Amino acid sequence: MLKALISTKTFNNLKQDIAKHSHAYLFYGEDAMLNIELAKVFVASIFCGKPTCGQCEACKRTDINKNPDMLVIDKPTLQVADIEGIIDNVQLKPMVYGHKVILITNADGINETAQNKLLKTLEEPNPQVIFVLTCTNIEKLLPTVRSRLSKHYIPRIDLEIVAQDLINQGINIDKFLHCDITMTDAVKYSTSQDADVLQVVEQSIYGLKSSADIPNIVSKLRIKPEQRKQYLNLLLSATNCTITNQQGVFSEQFIGYMQSVFNVTVLIKMLKLIDNSIKMIESNVNFNYVLDQLLYNILKEKYLCK
Ligand SMILES: [Zn+2]
Repeated sequence: MLKALISTKTFNNLKQDIAKHSHAYLFYGEDAMLNIELAKVFVASIFCGKPTCGQCEACKRTDINKNPDMLVIDKPTLQVADIEGIIDNVQLKPMVYGHKVILITNADGINETAQNKLLKTLEEPNPQVIFVLTCTNIEKLLPTVRSRLSKHYIPRIDLEIVAQDLINQGINIDKFLHCDITMTDAVKYSTSQDADVLQVVEQSIYGLKSSADIPNIVSKLRIKPEQRKQYLNLLLSATNCTITNQQGVFSEQFIGYMQSVFNVTVLIKMLKLIDNSIKMIESNVNFNYVLDQLLYNILKEKYLCK
């Protein structure tokens, strides 16, 4: 739900920038999920006619990928044969809405030969067909392809600002926040291998009482290098679940403990702190340092809010 709100809000900010009559659009930015969410809001608006309706048949069908006139290509890489398949599909007449939308979610995964193939279609557009592409790395697109696209940069969303903005609008965010707020890789933690990361997350919160505990926590937690990002994603998820009063993959006792020690303001700040930590380890900053700073900042927020 929050995801939809954010996408709609960002889309409304973007609306003026979007040239009305292009036949090919590119939404790009660091957050792959957000690019796709936003592209889908845009695609729905093409079929719906109203950018933020969300209620009509066209919007609903688009949202659940059941729109017969929308073709979604969601593959990590695309070869010439894939593009040929798309071109064949483009020849078929729209079934319901009078036009078709081809949504390609990993445009930076289209190999060079395939991009050249796609370029021909973009150069001779079919007026009934609109291409919507998303990618995280625009540099991987050929300049010739890029020049044919109406390009829209999607910045990463500052969760704290969005949350504050929603509060300012009188929206009860407790109702809207959901555990999928991160929009980064949502990972399922049901296997036994992940179960111990889950335990580590709970231990690190239980152990966090004063800054003197931090070095102890950091040295004690045995997080394998490949589990570091998982750990942070789980911590993020625990924070979301605490805000929304959901159990998620955590124990009832743990969420209850989180709710008893952190208030909503601190929890929202934690979302941002954890999100920043994820970005830091993605840039190969030393994990122990990141964790140390993160836990210290969480404590600081906690005491500032008292
Ligand atoms: Zn609609």
